Amino acid sequence: MTNIHMSKEIFNRYMELSDNARVICEYLWIDGTGEGIRSKCRTLEFEPKVPSDCPMWNYDGSSTYQAEGSNSDMYLLPVALFKDPFRCGLNKLVLCEVLKYNKKPAESNKRHTCAKTMVKAKDAHPWFGIEQEYTLTDVDGHPYGWPKSGFPAPQGPYYCGVGTNKVYGRDIVEAHYRACLYAGVNIAGANAEVMPAQWEFQVGPSEGIDMGDHLWVARYLLHRVAEDFGVVVTLDPKPVEGNWNGAGAHCNYSTLGMREPGGIKEIEDAVERLEKAHERHIKVYDPKEGKDNERRLTGKHETSSIYEFSAGVANRGASIRIPRQVAEDKCGYLEDRRPSSNCDPYAVTEIIVETTLLSK
Ligand code: ADP
Ligand code: MN
Ligand code: MN
Ligand code: MN
Repeated sequence: MTNIHMSKEIFNRYMELSDNARVICEYLWIDGTGEGIRSKCRTLEFEPKVPSDCPMWNYDGSSTYQAEGSNSDMYLLPVALFKDPFRCGLNKLVLCEVLKYNKKPAESNKRHTCAKTMVKAKDAHPWFGIEQEYTLTDVDGHPYGWPKSGFPAPQGPYYCGVGTNKVYGRDIVEAHYRACLYAGVNIAGANAEVMPAQWEFQVGPSEGIDMGDHLWVARYLLHRVAEDFGVVVTLDPKPVEGNWNGAGAHCNYSTLGMREPGGIKEIEDAVERLEKAHERHIKVYDPKEGKDNERRLTGKHETSSIYEFSAGVANRGASIRIPRQVAEDKCGYLEDRRPSSNCDPYAVTEIIVETTLLSK
């Protein structure tokens, strides 16, 4: 990191070289952990306009916790295209689904069934807005900007704070925001969080499968931007034990019916259905079937207990919160506060649609 030969100034000379004919495509995919993002790039001789313009590709699944070495080839199926904010020009980010040797979706590929579910529910026009919370750390895992021994002053001044002693790492947040806008990610906002070095950005409202696609690309961009600053991003839902807030991925959700006048009835009906399916939802709201969220959903620090379902207007200690404005307007959306920061948005949005719309 401190090596003079890794200077960005020298690097940028090469970044200005351009080839007007060929395009670099960075293929992105989710690895076997269900959390990690991998990528590799290739040259195309033309500018792809839709995902299917990009050829299928493959990689070594034995190096991504996805396959045995003896049968290791996994397929990459391009499903969404974004502009590349790092290489710029015609270069692209190509989000992919992962298929196994037999062309069946890999276990970690939650997009495959999510996309089918969203097609079934398309007449209800399901919209989602996910609030992605995350924490910045040094390479050694220590929260970014925290004293090397001891702790910062207790929580209180940091949420939406301003000032050198209140916010840690704002440059990364700003750079990530611009990268999302440039790429075409539907980023909605960002704010400093309750724990110092913890931040949030929101993606949405996005309809159907777009929610997962855009959030995964936003996460890729965040890790990649932070790399440029020599800082690490963790989506661990409880990065620091004790009196420090954890990190979630609140999922705001509405259907056309909920958004229309009197939609509160449909919201209330959805809450009832969500209550009955609480345990099933907890199982898919983090990649370890509830084990990660157990550390976060304690009933303290603006969370509900993982073991009990609750719902309420303006209640940030509930599983489901109905925003006050929605209660007043009698239409709008609900907020599911249970998904963990490291959840798979495909799995989360799929089960919400399944429970509230399709299992009727
Ligand atoms: P909070 O008050 O919980 O911090 P935020 O402002 O961080 O809420 O996030 C609210 C999210 O809800 C945004 O991503 C926004 O796009 C999304 N949202 C707003 N209206 C709707 C709607 N009708 N359906 C689904 N999502 C919505
Ligand atoms: Mn928020
Ligand atoms: Mn938040
Ligand atoms: Mn929220």
